[in-house]
Amino acid sequence: MENLLYTNVKFLKGMGPKRADLFARELGIFTIGDLLKYYPYKYIDRTKIYTISEINSTHTHIQIRGRIVSFRKEGPKYRQRLIAIFSDQTGSIELVWFQGAKWVEKSYEIGVEYIVFGKPTRFGKKINIAHPEIEPAALFENSVGTSLYPQYSLTEKLRSAYISSKTFQKLISDFFSSDKLTIPETLPDYLVKKLRLISLQEALHKIHLPSNPEEIKKSESRLKFEELFGIQLKILKQKLGRSTHFQGFVFNEVGDHFNTFYKKNLKFKLTEAQKKVMREIRIDLRSGKQMNRLLQGDVGSGKTLIALMSALLALDNGFQACLMAPTEILAVQHFNTMTNFLAGLPLQVLLLTGSTKKKERDSIYSDLENGSIEILIGTHALLEDPVKFKNLGLVIIDEQHRFGVAQRAKLWKKNLQPPHVLVMTATPIPRTLAMTLYGDLDVSVIDELPPGRKPIQTFHYYESKRLAMYGFLRKQIDQGRQVYIVYPLILESEKLDYIALEDGYAGVTEYFSPPEYTVVCVHGKMKTEDKDYGMNLFKKGKAHIMVATTVIEVGVDIPNATVMVIESAERYGLSQLHQLRGRVGRGADQSYCILMSGYKLSNEAKKRIDTLVNTNDGFEIAEVDLKLRGPGDIEGTQQSGIPFDLKIANLARDGQLLQYARNIAEDILESDPELKEEKNILLYRMLHNMKTSAFDWSVIS
Ligand code: ADP
Ligand code: MG
Repeated sequence: MENLLYTNVKFLKGMGPKRADLFARELGIFTIGDLLKYYPYKYIDRTKIYTISEINSTHTHIQIRGRIVSFRKEGPKYRQRLIAIFSDQTGSIELVWFQGAKWVEKSYEIGVEYIVFGKPTRFGKKINIAHPEIEPAALFENSVGTSLYPQYSLTEKLRSAYISSKTFQKLISDFFSSDKLTIPETLPDYLVKKLRLISLQEALHKIHLPSNPEEIKKSESRLKFEELFGIQLKILKQKLGRSTHFQGFVFNEVGDHFNTFYKKNLKFKLTEAQKKVMREIRIDLRSGKQMNRLLQGDVGSGKTLIALMSALLALDNGFQACLMAPTEILAVQHFNTMTNFLAGLPLQVLLLTGSTKKKERDSIYSDLENGSIEILIGTHALLEDPVKFKNLGLVIIDEQHRFGVAQRAKLWKKNLQPPHVLVMTATPIPRTLAMTLYGDLDVSVIDELPPGRKPIQTFHYYESKRLAMYGFLRKQIDQGRQVYIVYPLILESEKLDYIALEDGYAGVTEYFSPPEYTVVCVHGKMKTEDKDYGMNLFKKGKAHIMVATTVIEVGVDIPNATVMVIESAERYGLSQLHQLRGRVGRGADQSYCILMSGYKLSNEAKKRIDTLVNTNDGFEIAEVDLKLRGPGDIEGTQQSGIPFDLKIANLARDGQLLQYARNIAEDILESDPELKEEKNILLYRMLHNMKTSAFDWSVIS
């Protein structure tokens, strides 16, 4: 039987080809299924009628009953607005239209009783309602059914074609009024029963046309579950497929390299979290399956050490290892850190970046192939074709989100048998998001900082405290500390941002003037030599202050820098603020982060700043970020995008349901890995109907 959900919407009663075309272009709605899955973003309870005297601008939506007393026009011709005075027994209010005056005047009459619905807004002392919905009161009384009105997101184009939330409601209620209607079930019967879900048909019906809040809840549960469950089933199936397809090199030995390093070179104790992660990695490396592990840990949590020890395990088992970083600064820093850590060990560790000279490059190529280089560290340069390993056993990728999928694949393909892969990221990703984005990777978390670190103290200052702030910097500098002052740099406002930076730099040098103080300025528009010069001066402790754009966001490890001043802090995203703050607090001294902002802060900006002031916990910050911005904008996902289109579930809010769905998918796959059993036939189909996402690790290989 033809599935109704795949039928073109133009065949719906009340639609027609013209509207269908608009729905397709504006909202991507082509089929009845698309329409039914265009869920309301909220419901408005229209049981209550307010009196005009009760209205204040804190109401988001109100409904009033009364009559239009008069119409008038205001403003110049090209920007004219129509105003109606609307009254009930308690007072009057203005209704305003900025467009469509002619139509409004024709449609509504003075003296007739109407129900007016809309959002009150305050202008000075007056409150008005712009572009209200208006219905004759008589008609309203007779309208049957629900008082919960579904609201749909609409575009300007749709609105000007007179398509409103009501249009949706009408289309959908006409559709469901047919009694011969059947929408095929997508989940197996046993699952629907066991989980006490309502049927798909009922859920799709009631999500749009609920009679009470209970029905909305039940419909939401069913639809959200299905969405999250489908994704988890797919991810887990991929993971299962990969682990049966690919053998992994077995690293059984813990040999000389590892032991010597651990006993002789390592000057401190591993944190409990580092030990736990090393155990997880060791289990993977011995398992005979290819490791695909994501290592998450806040800045400064000691991920580099984990990378190093994992590499040593590869070496002890006769393999080579490589580490790829997203920028040259970072690659160099890793190289320095690793060679310091490995001092005295008979190991060949080399650096390969875009600026490696031809001669050295060629010798690296040949030494890699003959196996005399054991660890190679570098940038994208590692991906180039002439880079061939003798036997690459472990690939470590730092700051994973900066690399595209294809790039990672290239590295991976440098072996016939895929090497083990460890991906490290300092951008904490909330659990729920990690389960969806990296659901087929195993995740390790370092959730503890090395001992002795004092939590960074964070303050928020308005512009009026600038002098006090400078005074504070002076005290820190007098104690021998160094300071970063960071200015935002955004493509859209680049010119102005550079002006702000220059002005800021001038202001700082005026207060901290030579010869007593040295202030360097570093930004992306400078020549590399100049930039390096400034950086080096600061690194060597010869400059007191570094004024910079966000170029310092990734990299630089200067333990003596104890103050991070972030200018125009309101303009940054939460995770970016957190990353910047992580540049201090790397030594034994108390560190500080000062967020400077203007007076005008949006609610969200205030929330971001407050969050940063109140916590140092990267995961907590990531959760808030997810809630504020929605998963699509979370740092680290812009590039890859959320691979699945979520229409109703919300990763920020539905974490528990996601976990639940994942557990159930796991159980099912455990007993029927191929989904070949009769009872799971619908699940088999569900998987095959899902689009393959770009973020598919099994495709990479
Ligand atoms: P991440 O890469 O996670 O930002 P790093 O690996 O750069 O962090 O570690 C930050 C600093 O902490 C480094 O100087 C490192 O040597 C040091 N460190 C790492 N682990 C420990 C530990 N267990 N105890 C003390 N210091 C540590
Ligand atoms: Mg690091």
